[in-house]
Amino acid sequence: MKQNIIGMLPSDLIPWLGERGEPSYRAKQILRWVYERKVASFQDMSDIPLRLREELAASFSLGVTRCVEVRASADGSKKFLLAFPSSDTVEVVAIPHRSWYTVCLSTQVGCPVRCPFCATGRAGFRRSLAPEEIVEEAWRVSKEENQRITHLVFMGMGEPLLNYESLHRALQVFNSPEGFNIGSRRITVSTVGIPEKIIQLGQDWPEVNLAVSLHAPTDDLRNFLVPLNRVYPIRSLLVALREYLHRTRRRVTIEYTLWQDVNDKREHALQLSRILRGLLVHVNLIPGNRVRGTPFVPSSRKRLEMFAALLREQGIPVTLRRSRGHDIQAACGELYRIHGLGGEIEDDHCFTKRRYTAGN
Ligand code: SF4
Repeated sequence: MKQNIIGMLPSDLIPWLGERGEPSYRAKQILRWVYERKVASFQDMSDIPLRLREELAASFSLGVTRCVEVRASADGSKKFLLAFPSSDTVEVVAIPHRSWYTVCLSTQVGCPVRCPFCATGRAGFRRSLAPEEIVEEAWRVSKEENQRITHLVFMGMGEPLLNYESLHRALQVFNSPEGFNIGSRRITVSTVGIPEKIIQLGQDWPEVNLAVSLHAPTDDLRNFLVPLNRVYPIRSLLVALREYLHRTRRRVTIEYTLWQDVNDKREHALQLSRILRGLLVHVNLIPGNRVRGTPFVPSSRKRLEMFAALLREQGIPVTLRRSRGHDIQAACGELYRIHGLGGEIEDDHCFTKRRYTAGN
């Protein structure tokens, strides 16, 4: 199989050019056609010698994904289901704003964390993506939409820090002036919290924004909502966050999705404010996206406002987020699952959910 040129940087292409007696400056020239102009074919690279264009076409592919489905929301966001040659599919969401264009990327096919409220988690885990596959998600959407990406968020399918090597390499391509040229401060990595990888991200990418999906203030509740908490309990996550904050001095976003009568009560807000007190964090409260086949009900606006007010009273900065794309199954993994590519739906969490709604 040919190597995909998407995901390469000049240093990767220079040896290949050298073997053909070509000057190294050609690498930047070729990759400008790839990342800036997003040409469909090597033949379109008009300032590259014809013979070299033919050799490029013989050695490399220029994008390998196929767009299986696109759904556009009334609010302007669009969800893409992309298929790789292996038939694995991933979701990518484009979110236009007035002056910027954000793309939300996946790092794995499915997700091993298996959060019970998440369509991806419920569909199981297939594999981690290679760096060039992550880069291609952004390239494909940017090309399809003819938009320059200004911001990236790693909040799609999968847990980015469980695929750290691919994430790291993809970040190099996104950040490089010879790649997508997206500034580190315009990139956000969202994780449920792998302590040692949080510290590593702070070392490798101190200016990339970190968001931690907490969703619960106690281990008992979080073991249920984010099962990886059994391996990395809240205490270990907070130790890593302190270390990260000490090194980077950059505010961390705490993502907290609210589910009616599960994690949205007064005592949850007070417990949350207690564990976050003294940390340089900002809490984003997000109404859940209803996922078919799950019993989770998004909290009401009134409950969200009550929760936010309690956090503010305790001195915790908080923002109420809108959940976009309700009409296009924008919840992570829903389109993937609708296409029947994500395995069977399991209902084994429903009993536990009842325990929490009744007991807490
Ligand atoms: S919410 Fe995120 S971490 Fe949890 S299962 Fe879904 S994709 Fe994985």
